[in-house]
Amino acid sequence: MNNCPSCNEPPISLGGWCNGLNSIKCKCKSCGVDLLANLATWVILSTIVLAMCLTAYISITQFDVHFKQDRWLLIGLVSIPVLLGSVIGYFSGGYKVKA
Ligand SMILES: [Zn+2]
Repeated sequence: MNNCPSCNEPPISLGGWCNGLNSIKCKCKSCGVDLLANLATWVILSTIVLAMCLTAYISITQFDVHFKQDRWLLIGLVSIPVLLGSVIGYFSGGYKVKA
């Protein structure tokens, strides 16, 4: 995570980053400035969405996972790239000050 461009402190915790839309838009916890995701964050977020779709697709087509009967298994599988991506995104992503 890049530090806040305004106060140069970490703008958000990992838990907060993974929570809802905070990764796209948040308020710096140190100085309160409005922040928006930078390009690196957008790229990572799109990769996560793509990885989710791919995981679901591969599970259903290659491993005979059923969309209805194996719903929880599918949710578990899809959450793997989400968790991984969130951690990677948190450490390599960042924010810019909202114009
Ligand atoms: Zn700040």
